[in-house]
Amino acid sequence: MTVARSVNPRTGAEFGPDFPDADTSQVAAAVAAAVEVAEVMAGLAPATIADGLLAAADALDAGSDALAALADGETALGLPRLIGEVARTTGQLRSFAVMLRTGEHLDVVATRLSAGAPARDLRRVNVPVGVVAVFAASNFPFAFSVAGGDTASALAAGCPVIVKAHYGHPQTSRRVAEILDRALPAAGLPQRAVQVLHGGADTGQALVTHPDVAAVGFTGSTAGGRAISDLAARRRVPIPVYAEQGSLNPVVVAPSALADVAAEARMLAGSVSLGGGQFCTKPGLIFVPATLSDRFVAELVDCLARTSPVHLLTEKIREQFTRAVDAATAVPGVQVWRGAAPASGFGAAPAVVSADTGTFIGAPGLREELFGPAAVVISVRDVADLRAALATVGGNLTGTVHGDPADEWVLTAVWLLTHRAGRLVYAGVPTGVAVDPAMHHGGPYPASSSARHTSVGTAAIYRFLRPVAYQDFPDELLPDALRGVGSG
Ligand code: NAP
Repeated sequence: MTVARSVNPRTGAEFGPDFPDADTSQVAAAVAAAVEVAEVMAGLAPATIADGLLAAADALDAGSDALAALADGETALGLPRLIGEVARTTGQLRSFAVMLRTGEHLDVVATRLSAGAPARDLRRVNVPVGVVAVFAASNFPFAFSVAGGDTASALAAGCPVIVKAHYGHPQTSRRVAEILDRALPAAGLPQRAVQVLHGGADTGQALVTHPDVAAVGFTGSTAGGRAISDLAARRRVPIPVYAEQGSLNPVVVAPSALADVAAEARMLAGSVSLGGGQFCTKPGLIFVPATLSDRFVAELVDCLARTSPVHLLTEKIREQFTRAVDAATAVPGVQVWRGAAPASGFGAAPAVVSADTGTFIGAPGLREELFGPAAVVISVRDVADLRAALATVGGNLTGTVHGDPADEWVLTAVWLLTHRAGRLVYAGVPTGVAVDPAMHHGGPYPASSSARHTSVGTAAIYRFLRPVAYQDFPDELLPDALRGVGSG
């Protein structure tokens, strides 16, 4: 049996208890319990589920400082960020509670058809899909983990959740699970509405292939998301996988945005290095006019050289980052700057790789996600050059444009990025994702497995609901939400 333990990214030292991998029989037991919970939850009023979400949010808020301290030891993300992340997580839970009280997620439609039509009375409502498996993210120990957006949206939909905890923060995962175990039943939800399993690929695969699991939420690498999507598609009964995967988040800096090159570089350096560069929305590709690219790169390097030392989340992430930067560095024709890495733990050096468009277009290695404090800067001669370079870029979570609205570079970039990204940012930076009904956090492949769905904001609930239409049903057999609707 394999066991995981917490590791301090700043020192590399292991600490805390062992977390044994859940084996196939433990996965099966968790799913069997969740199937029973699913039936109970499907019969609960949305207001009861809302009460559960609010109770969970209150309990997490009450433990915020201790939770953040625990997570800091496992992730090195820093207390201010982690305290803010707990608040974001509880804000997410509360926003779903508000949505549930409006009933809008049910999307009730009722029609009285005219005489002679095949049906006289049609009513449609959204119902929960069933048991949801969630793969927690490494880089958000709260907001995309045990009580994070996938769990909150699935619970809000009326689905029980089985979370595969990320090995990077097992103690934080267990502590959050304990808080949910107390708060949810006290508010009227069934016991085991959220279950947490620890384990590696075998545990995850047993979960995805279990016949009673109905849908999957995932946040992580493109390779991991793709492997799980493929596995789910090969099942006898395929199920949807909502995977949020890697993203390059291109930024186009038009000539009209470079009146102050240093200020522009400062803004983007802040976004590249935020959270050690371990955000899915980190700007990884920056397109700048060739006439100013040397100055821009020098300013960017200067800013990154002065940022705090970075310890990445896990040894695996540090190895992948180093390998990806090495591969980009080895592309013929690129210029490379690499800063200093802390000697201890999972220390990583910031890096800037710069290339002209010809080099960029010919080197797929420059379009690999660098999950850490690094970016690729592409010097672009003109709009035709920009078109050719952006044409090689796949799907992204975000696309950012800097420059005057009438600038031809801007107009071209907006057109091209609209077809390559789920969220367009004007004049700002892509890091910092607002949790809001208007948010879309998803994009064309490989950024996510389903560009039509978001993993942030209340619209995330629709991943775990499906519509059912009732034809000529007597009121007493209808779900509560459809009784007395449109029958007059
Ligand atoms: P990951 O390697 O994709 O792992 C995420 C989760 O998926 C883990 O629980 C992992 O299990 C599981 N998994 C991965 N491949 C699997 C497979 N073939 N079968 C079953 N389960 C599988 O992501 P990570 O650990 O967070 O970090 C690695 C890389 O992911 C980073 O370097 C970065 O490139 C990317 N990343 C992207 C985002 C984003 O939001 N875009 C966020 C985080 C990470 P194990 O426990 O066995 O590893």
